[in-house]
Amino acid sequence: MAASLPLQLFEEPGACPTTADWEELLIETLRRPVQVSFGTSRTAPVRAQERGQPPVFCVRLHEAFAEAPMDVCDSLARWLLVGRRARKACKLLDDWIDQRMQHESGPPRSAPTLRPEGTTYDLGALAQEVLAQRFEGHFGEECPLPGLTWGRRARSRSRHSLRLGSYDPTTHVVRLHPVLDQPEVPRWFVCFVLAHELLHAKWPPKRGRGRRWIHHGAQFRAEEAAHPDYGRACDWETLQLPGLIRSARRGTAFRAKRGRGLRGLIGRQGDR
Ligand SMILES: [Zn+2]
Repeated sequence: MAASLPLQLFEEPGACPTTADWEELLIETLRRPVQVSFGTSRTAPVRAQERGQPPVFCVRLHEAFAEAPMDVCDSLARWLLVGRRARKACKLLDDWIDQRMQHESGPPRSAPTLRPEGTTYDLGALAQEVLAQRFEGHFGEECPLPGLTWGRRARSRSRHSLRLGSYDPTTHVVRLHPVLDQPEVPRWFVCFVLAHELLHAKWPPKRGRGRRWIHHGAQFRAEEAAHPDYGRACDWETLQLPGLIRSARRGTAFRAKRGRGLRGLIGRQGDR
């Protein structure tokens, strides 16, 4: 058995571990700087990632972990420390998460307000094209088309990444980052991101071996790779992402970089 964990933190009956409690527990167990936050993602109830310089181990937990009993806290700490080798801890943690996430799925979250009409692009109109080209017959009465919306225009804080789109299986809503709602972002690229998120609605995340959720499974990948714009969309994203991140952070207009020699940008400039 590895060093025992400072479980006394949570031993007071009825006491709920706060993020500070979690930090204290994890710092003591992992012996490195840890920052804990609570979120609401049910598909990824535990996310851990090293960030920044000097590195801090950032752990994002589903808010249900604020009510986690002692043995679950213990198991999570063990799992973060030694991974899947902590078999007993994994099993206990898995069972608790399954049970809690089912409980969480009880009352549906209220549907978000949808704002499909942007200043440059109307997602409703783009979706009609995307559906006709890529999803014929898939969405209908049995499987309704997800709600479509532009995200809120809040300044992004990230310097390194940007989530261009998302699909929320709980609310069945596809959300695109408003940085894409600009004239210098080609229409075909917005359509491609939309198609990617609609594929998430078609092939929702599923559990793979172990605890991992598979978001981009084999069928998803195959259908995405078959998209006629797949290559140039990857190229365009690689080339333009720094500019998009800057635009999202500063709230300034996005100016597309003119690349040379990239598949996506040769002879297709007119195709917007
Ligand atoms: Zn995806």
